[in-house]
Amino acid sequence: MIDLTVLNPQQRTAVEHTGGPLLILAGAGSGKTRALTYRVAYLIEHGTAPWKILAITFTNKAAREMKDRICSLAGAEGEEVWAMTFHALCVRILRRDIEKLGYKRQFVIYDEDDSMRLIKDSLKKLNLDEKHFPPRSVRAVISNAKNHMLTPKEWLEQAMRTDPDIRNQRYYDVYERYEKELRGNNALDFDDLLLRTLELFAENPPVLQYYQDRFEHVLVDEYQDTNYVQYQLVLLLAGYRKNICVVGDDDQSIYGWRGADIRNILGFETDFPDARVIKLEQNYRSTGNILDAANQVIAHNLGRKEKALWTESGAGEPIVLADTLDERDEAAVISNQTRGFIREGVRPGQIAVLYRMNAQSRVIEEAFVRAGIPYRVYGGLKFYDRKEVRDLMAYLRAIYNQDDDLSARRIINEPRRGIGEATVTLLSDWAAQNGISFLNAALSAEDAPLGSRARKQIGAFADLMVDLVMAAGTQSPSELLQTVIDRTGYLKELEQAKTEENQARIENIRELQGAVTEFEQLHPDGSLSDFLENVALVTDYDSIDENGGAVTLMTLHAAKGLEFDVVFMPGMEEGIFPTTRALTDPESLEEERRLAYVGITRARKRLFLLHAYSRAIYNSRSSNELSRFVSEIPPRLLRSGSRRGEVRRVPPAGMMRSAYVQIPARPDRRAEGSAEAAGSKGALRGAGTNASPEGRGAAVLFKTGDSVVHSIFKRGRVIRTEMMNGRQKVRVQFSDGKIREFDAGIAPLVKVED
Ligand code: ATP
Ligand code: MG
Repeated sequence: MIDLTVLNPQQRTAVEHTGGPLLILAGAGSGKTRALTYRVAYLIEHGTAPWKILAITFTNKAAREMKDRICSLAGAEGEEVWAMTFHALCVRILRRDIEKLGYKRQFVIYDEDDSMRLIKDSLKKLNLDEKHFPPRSVRAVISNAKNHMLTPKEWLEQAMRTDPDIRNQRYYDVYERYEKELRGNNALDFDDLLLRTLELFAENPPVLQYYQDRFEHVLVDEYQDTNYVQYQLVLLLAGYRKNICVVGDDDQSIYGWRGADIRNILGFETDFPDARVIKLEQNYRSTGNILDAANQVIAHNLGRKEKALWTESGAGEPIVLADTLDERDEAAVISNQTRGFIREGVRPGQIAVLYRMNAQSRVIEEAFVRAGIPYRVYGGLKFYDRKEVRDLMAYLRAIYNQDDDLSARRIINEPRRGIGEATVTLLSDWAAQNGISFLNAALSAEDAPLGSRARKQIGAFADLMVDLVMAAGTQSPSELLQTVIDRTGYLKELEQAKTEENQARIENIRELQGAVTEFEQLHPDGSLSDFLENVALVTDYDSIDENGGAVTLMTLHAAKGLEFDVVFMPGMEEGIFPTTRALTDPESLEEERRLAYVGITRARKRLFLLHAYSRAIYNSRSSNELSRFVSEIPPRLLRSGSRRGEVRRVPPAGMMRSAYVQIPARPDRRAEGSAEAAGSKGALRGAGTNASPEGRGAAVLFKTGDSVVHSIFKRGRVIRTEMMNGRQKVRVQFSDGKIREFDAGIAPLVKVED
């Protein structure tokens, strides 16, 4: 029997709730995640099959922790619960049925970096200058459009209505191109994972029906940070059963800039009029002072659901407000204090430095290095972002999905094979003209308009890839990686020059091999596809170890859901936190304040707020006023401190700023916003779904057995055809014995009599 006495009465009500819509709306540290976890275990104990439960978490790490907890409560079968992030869920669903959308089963997932590359490529092909169209902004526009389920055309129409800027047409061009390239590469970006799943459900009711029947219970943690697409998914999956339990805190909605919509949680009772609402009011995490400060700060936001959080734990230590000279002094205070705590026996993993901007970490890292304090920065360059790791992963991806032009182009001259940029462009253009993939073009290099040297080099690369694809048929992922390393000579090239940098790269390659081996141990039946997926979805944050031996350095955004004994928040200054942008925009300011609330409520026992009289950041120095968020904390909760311990020191006159900007109540935009899932089906169609926009040759549909002539490869016979996104792909065996695949609408291919 699960022991429910470790829960308070409200949590218990939530856990024992039999079915139907349930909303747990409560402040930070009130045991929402705990209630959700216990609810899953309880459902299993009371007869629900674990695989019929879907529990959505914000990170993979949270999913892992939830599963472990469920297993310890309800037994090992808890492992079968679908506890995962939205993205992981969608990958699972798509793996099974994506062919119904015209993709091939072995699609690959493009991460942020891949997406950026594809956008840069698209800009180049459209002759657009990166200076006028910064790839990052273009990416944001596209991602935003996708998160609102707008096709390029729909986006353009909307954009021109609200802001008739001529540049919109160019954004449209890039967006369209980008979508086309993704499709052509049989690749999905992160936004697609969600969108295509919705599209799958919309176009294939039986698939949706399958999941609606399967999931008897759907639970979502951190519901306040779902975006429009995720919201639609939740509604669809909850389906006719409506056994949906969402937990969240409107005061912790901090991803508005990424499309998260606070209205999803605030409107839950409108979506489900018979919803049961449970509020949790006891905070179990923080001391009285810390909780008090958090409550006071967030009370300055308007248009929120009033919540009264209280704690049984005592007031605890005062919050320390450290006034420092500059960012170095600030870092010194943090490292001195940290050293003190560690000496007193606090585990480094229980200490965190949470900042507003990644750029703030450098100085703190330097101080930690000098002080010999072990630390880990999260959210910096991920392991899987390192060049050598990306190169080898690109090999694996190109082997797995031979349509992945982005990966194939990345590795054609990695390690160096003397194939220049110009040759790659030529080959790529030629591939496009002939409607074949880049790898396919490389295989046919002898027919391409290239010099003989280039042909030879590309030919050798193509032969290598054929061997690797063959090897993939029989080898496990780790064996395959070893084969790639051996056959490409990747490692050998690094070993030739014994520089420190190369040494680090070699170590990273070993680390990658270790990761594959570990993956195989955890998933004995794991295929190459499973491994690639696993890597595509891991984030740096999944490896945070609160028990471990290193202090955590991360942004406030990343700290959601976590807790630490000791928390430092540097940069409490106007223009840093809140950021400059928020100073003039009331909505952003409220989001910043929620972020402050999230930061403060991460602390269990000790909280340090720091500010500097003068600060250098992004290569310029300025003097900022104390953050309004500090002024919103009653002085009785604060103690001033400096680097020599925590000496009481009165802040200079004028430092305690109390300016508070009145914010008009937010109008309810729900009415205009949320279309019914079914009603927005039209918007679900991707750019490439319409049949053959090029038109040329579109009417001719080939069939297996047809005799054909290609303008370059001459006579051949169709051995396979398939439809992808409304376009026909044909595989042809030519008289030279080679098999090539084409897009029938583009390739210079005609049917002839036998
Ligand atoms: P956040 O809003 O930050 O996500 P939360 O509401 O999800 O927080 P939890 O993380 O579930 O809160 O709980 C906060 C802390 O309080 C955890 O350490 C948890 O173990 C503890 N806790 C939760 N409920 C209880 C309880 N009934 N008795 C004792 N401790 C509890
Ligand atoms: Mg939580």
